[in-house]
Amino acid sequence: MSQAILSLNAGSSSIKFALHDVAALGSGKRLSHGQIEGIGSAPHFVARGADGALLTEYRWPSGAALAHEDLLAPLLTWITSHLGAQSLAAVGHRIVHGGATHDRPVLLTDAVIADLDKLVPLAPLHQPHNLAAVRALRKLRPGLPQVACFDTAFHHGMAPTVTRLALPRRYAAEGVRRYGFHGLSYEYIAGRLREQAPTLARGRVIAAHLGNGASLCGMADGRSVDTTMGLTALDGLVMGTRCGSIDPGALLYLQQQHGMSASALEHLLYHESGLLGVSGISNDMRTLLDSADVHAREAVDLFVFRIAREAGALASSLGGLDGLIFSAGIGEHAPAIRAAVCARLAWLGIRLDDDANAAGATLISTPDSHVQVRIIATDEEAMIARHTLAVALAGHTGVAS
Ligand code: ADP
Repeated sequence: MSQAILSLNAGSSSIKFALHDVAALGSGKRLSHGQIEGIGSAPHFVARGADGALLTEYRWPSGAALAHEDLLAPLLTWITSHLGAQSLAAVGHRIVHGGATHDRPVLLTDAVIADLDKLVPLAPLHQPHNLAAVRALRKLRPGLPQVACFDTAFHHGMAPTVTRLALPRRYAAEGVRRYGFHGLSYEYIAGRLREQAPTLARGRVIAAHLGNGASLCGMADGRSVDTTMGLTALDGLVMGTRCGSIDPGALLYLQQQHGMSASALEHLLYHESGLLGVSGISNDMRTLLDSADVHAREAVDLFVFRIAREAGALASSLGGLDGLIFSAGIGEHAPAIRAAVCARLAWLGIRLDDDANAAGATLISTPDSHVQVRIIATDEEAMIARHTLAVALAGHTGVAS
């Protein structure tokens, strides 16, 4: 009987899922994908087929106090009926933080869950929701293998100088250091690059994951050397609603002059800043690119400026640059942003092929460009599914995972 793998990305207000047929994992095709949105307000479950067509949807009564079990139970019921004769082999979770020890995906046992609980202070906005989904599924399907796939793991090999923060050493001992995120996306991109351009994949490459969350990763021979996110997913680039790198003195100013509490600052920096804060209009790049408002243009200009500035820093970390990869919602679909970033990086020898860029081709640099510029569509859920299959199979055959 053929089997399927469920990938879950459980956050505070939504649970995103993708369902993959084990036999078709290499193809990039999904059986289904969708989400439960509006958690905490008016939850709404939507599932779509591989072609994007709506397969099912369900709304919970608004205002009902719902636990993760209440939300995931209908998803599991629908998956069981959708799979028919196929069975669900395992569930893979995107877990934001693996801390200093988890450098690869791992089967979620009692001991691992207890260990991941200890990392909640390092990712208080994400880790508790990731783990709540794990616990809910253990209750609903106790025998179903669950695998943790970490956003931090890909960056595990970064050198101590790269991960160190210039604070008194006692804080490093409790885990206050740079970790980096979007690791599942970068791992997927590194794999696709090896398939598409093996020589370039062995070189010095910057991958730009530009979605609502955004970061850059400098890779040498497919391994992370440096990245723009740090202790948290707040650092680095300007994002949809997150500020990115900021003078720590600005935070002291806000505390001292505006009397802001830690939780007020947290809300400001995660939810009210970035493209939304600067434009005063939207966190959505499409809306900003379509707007004639001067503040929308300034937000877009700042977004581009900071990508180019951070790319310059990563080129230094890598000792030069052979390739630049654009990925995620903005990276894959916004030619104007790719062109503006590449124009600012012309000093690195980047020459963009304007027609290829406008067409969204795989290779968008000219033959005489010193740096190859490419577009790679990322697929974090496929990465999770592959890891999950490997770890779950290893677990079942007694092979150490
Ligand atoms: P998430 O981090 O939530 O997965 P995505 O990778 O889907 O986000 O990226 C969302 C961002 O991509 C939004 O800012 C959206 O406006 C932008 N985006 C998607 N399509 C386009 C497009 N055609 N042109 C410009 N921006 C786009």
